[in-house]
Amino acid sequence: MATSKVLPKIAIIGGGPAGLTLASLLHKSLPSSSSPVTVFDLRPAPSASTLHIPSGSLDLHRGSGLLAIGKCGLTSKFKALIADCSEQIIVADKSGKIWYQNHAQNGERPEISRNALTYLLLSTLPPDLIRWNTKVLSVTPGSERKWKITFGNKEQDEFDKVVGADGAWSKARDAIPRASKPFYSGASYLTFTIRNLSTNYPSLNSLVGNGSYSAFSEHKALISQRGAMGSVRLYLMMTIPSSSYFSDSGLDSLPPAELKKKLLGEEDFFQGWGNELQELISAGCDAVEDKMEARPLYMHPMGDSWTHTPGITLIGDAAHLMTPSGEGVNCAMLDALELSEAITSSLETEGGLDEAVKAFEEKMWKRSKELMEDADQMLKIMLEDKNAPQQFCQMFQKG
Ligand SMILES: Cc1cc2nc3c(=O)[nH]c(=O)nc-3n(C[C@H](O)[C@H](O)[C@H](O)COP(=O)(O)OP(=O)(O)OC[C@H]3O[C@@H](n4cnc5c(N)ncnc54)[C@H](O)[C@@H]3O)c2cc1C
Repeated sequence: MATSKVLPKIAIIGGGPAGLTLASLLHKSLPSSSSPVTVFDLRPAPSASTLHIPSGSLDLHRGSGLLAIGKCGLTSKFKALIADCSEQIIVADKSGKIWYQNHAQNGERPEISRNALTYLLLSTLPPDLIRWNTKVLSVTPGSERKWKITFGNKEQDEFDKVVGADGAWSKARDAIPRASKPFYSGASYLTFTIRNLSTNYPSLNSLVGNGSYSAFSEHKALISQRGAMGSVRLYLMMTIPSSSYFSDSGLDSLPPAELKKKLLGEEDFFQGWGNELQELISAGCDAVEDKMEARPLYMHPMGDSWTHTPGITLIGDAAHLMTPSGEGVNCAMLDALELSEAITSSLETEGGLDEAVKAFEEKMWKRSKELMEDADQMLKIMLEDKNAPQQFCQMFQKG
């Protein structure tokens, strides 16, 4: 790209799917000799072996996640990394009766693990463009219309442009006027990772198949996805009035045997579910190695926006946190793609960077409002509709 303009010094806070996609696209389109982009992430740098650690699966869609992968020049590398979880979908009720199944492998919604997606995006970036183990504590106005970032080690630096891609509890979001805080959605979930399901539990292996499997009853959902090394990731999602119930009640630190007794034997949990589904939950409890992952789900108000603030913006979950609906990561990667285009085109034309970012935000707010409404609707069907399996069946049949 040829530009006579001085390149802005850009900080991307967060090396999740949104931040790494943006970094990849900017690194590709801005002059390489003086890349003005730095990504900051609080996590340690992932190693090559991370790829083999089960991490949950994300389905990427044609007009968003896959489009961004293509623009990063990663389509063929992506295809080599999607073998762990197929596109298969099975929907059942709590007895295990199947209401919908689709084993098509048409490339419409290929699944990639979180760790593989990180690995893939990192392959496009020079290692020194990312500062791992770097927690951002705050973002505040700096000198000459810049923004000052304060890090966990108390160091500070100033940037012309800050992009908050730091997820639900974004520090960049805290710096923006009228940006709301996330609120509890009323649903919480437990996560289990059962390694080597294929060899250790052959009957459960055929129950869940090689893609995604879900079963629903009122106020409860069981969702499983295949992962690295023959594993399965199992999510138990429930309507729970208090966001701190799992920790207040001590459920998140129960030993596996007691946890199993509670989940399988109490009416508030999975008592009365079919034998095979109970066996799956039991295998999940047996697989707990340390403290279980038990989390409340938060969201931003639907149709949320904020006062446009020169020099700082948000993408991904930091901009529009929604309950899981299969769109979060796709929306995050499309945000990154559109913001990268806005930044690059503002450097090529006479228009200012800030005007381009403002136009980007308006488009993103409109798009994310619809997706947040769909996600909320999906959560209501999953957890409040007696006929959730039938509803999902109709939804999938309509396409
Ligand atoms: C259980 C569950 C299942 C899901 N399944 C799907 C699915 O199947 N499909 C789908 O599309 N979406 C799914 N989602 C949603 C999806 O995970 C998110 O929408 C997506 O990860 C958003 O990407 P992001 O980069 O915006 O944020 P994140 O993935 O949250 O990344 C934020 C990054 O910022 C870093 N960070 C945070 N705070 C700081 C700080 N202060 N300083 C420095 N770094 C910081 C974090 O370490 C992290 O790397 C699911 C969500 C959940 C909870």
